Amino acid sequence: MSARILVVDDIPANVKLLEVKLTAEYFEVLTAYDGPTALEMAETQSPDLILTDIMMPGMDGFEVCERLKASPATAHIPVVMVTALSDVSDRVCGLKAGADDFLTKPVNDVALFARVRSLARLKLMMDELRIRQAAVNQQDVISGGGMEEITGTGARILLAEASVLNAERIKGYLSEDDQIVHTERNIVDAVAATNRQEFELLVVNLHLGDEDGLRLCSQIRSQKHTRHMPILLILEEDELPRLAKGLDLGVTDYLIKPVDRNELHARCRTQVRRSRYHEKLRQILQTSVSMAYTDPLTSVYNRRYMNAHLERKIMEIAETAKPVSILMFDIDQFKGVNDSFGHKVGDEVLKGVAKRASDCLRDSDMVARYGGEEFVVIMPDTDERVAARVGERLRQTIARESFAVASQAQLIPMTISIGCASTRDPMETSESLLERADEVLYKAKDLGRNRVVSSELGLIGGENARAVGQ
Ligand code: GH3
Ligand code: MG
Ligand code: MG
Repeated sequence: MSARILVVDDIPANVKLLEVKLTAEYFEVLTAYDGPTALEMAETQSPDLILTDIMMPGMDGFEVCERLKASPATAHIPVVMVTALSDVSDRVCGLKAGADDFLTKPVNDVALFARVRSLARLKLMMDELRIRQAAVNQQDVISGGGMEEITGTGARILLAEASVLNAERIKGYLSEDDQIVHTERNIVDAVAATNRQEFELLVVNLHLGDEDGLRLCSQIRSQKHTRHMPILLILEEDELPRLAKGLDLGVTDYLIKPVDRNELHARCRTQVRRSRYHEKLRQILQTSVSMAYTDPLTSVYNRRYMNAHLERKIMEIAETAKPVSILMFDIDQFKGVNDSFGHKVGDEVLKGVAKRASDCLRDSDMVARYGGEEFVVIMPDTDERVAARVGERLRQTIARESFAVASQAQLIPMTISIGCASTRDPMETSESLLERADEVLYKAKDLGRNRVVSSELGLIGGENARAVGQ
């Protein structure tokens, strides 16, 4: 993995040292020697990660971090603070400023690459999601993506810890921060717990009694429903070499013992926030994808998708030699519903008609909203005679029972007029087929509404109708 990293430090020798280490691992390195330059570069060069010193003349590292996190253009860039001492109060201030992580000087290589890789990987993944979302919405990429609106507390956390004493202490710390903790003492029970309920974070000790905590991490990653769950690993300073393996397995963050309460709060919050942010993006992505082919009000297909589908079905006639039929239907006197009951009730009735129509058709038939209160049904492998009969059944299904609307005591009777057209010609265009259906739909309206008219067979359903295809 390659990533672009901005290193910020007022002492050139420190910058050089990190630059050499990171370049040797094929990271692209940008450098800044003071806060204001760092802020400018963060905005113009879009780094994937920022490593910043704390003690700098003028603007210190805390302020740099605060400003980065306050600006929508840079809030999503992970920040790692490099502290001179393993000073707890520095860490707490850094986390308050929004730092994503810490490294202590002299910088240990394993810790450096571990943090850099895991944060850069996460950042690239978030970018990917933002870009996809933007592509679907056909909007500009939104920087930041609302990460600041999402809180990191009130989460259900699974704690895997064999020692009762440690478990109680960690649970106590996390409860103070409004997290909800469920504890398990071994791998089998922890995995079983994830099958019973949903957790937003796993906090795991590297030593689970005689068992290896990394084995639990790997199982969590391999189960479909827990694949995206963040994992916070707790380990001893001298166990850092095993961390690299853990990060490969998908551990998302770690804490060195003894566990500091503030650091635990902050790390858990960050992990929960990130996972909630990802979840939100996934949902947005899913809805935008479905919005691309469905109508948001009625949930049936939209016009654009229907057109593409109809074209495909007509083209397939060349191979299948089977006819394709369509019904075009329009709700009768729908304006009257809006006028008498209001637009909201009109919407409910539209939904009800779309649902009832979908329910009375085969799964292979496709219902789409063509516009306002007009719908199209595409029926592959169906000749006009059968299609007309389906149309008549649809007409009766709508007219037979009045529609109930939640806010309305009285039932609303509705009818539809239907035009039916078919083709056996793979060269026919979808436009001309739709036009033919539209023409007979208007005949049905002219003949008094609540009728089915077929372009081949004439008037089919409703009053004065004649039976066809019996
Ligand atoms: P006809 O029998 O000739 O089809 O009469 P109609 O009243 O159904 O037809 P008209 O075209 O005069 O009016 C259609 C109405 O449908 C007007 C429009 O405001 C309403 N409409 C279109 N889309 C929606 C919608 O999404 N929600 C609601 N509530 N009304 C809609
Ligand atoms: Mg109408
Ligand atoms: Mg209309």
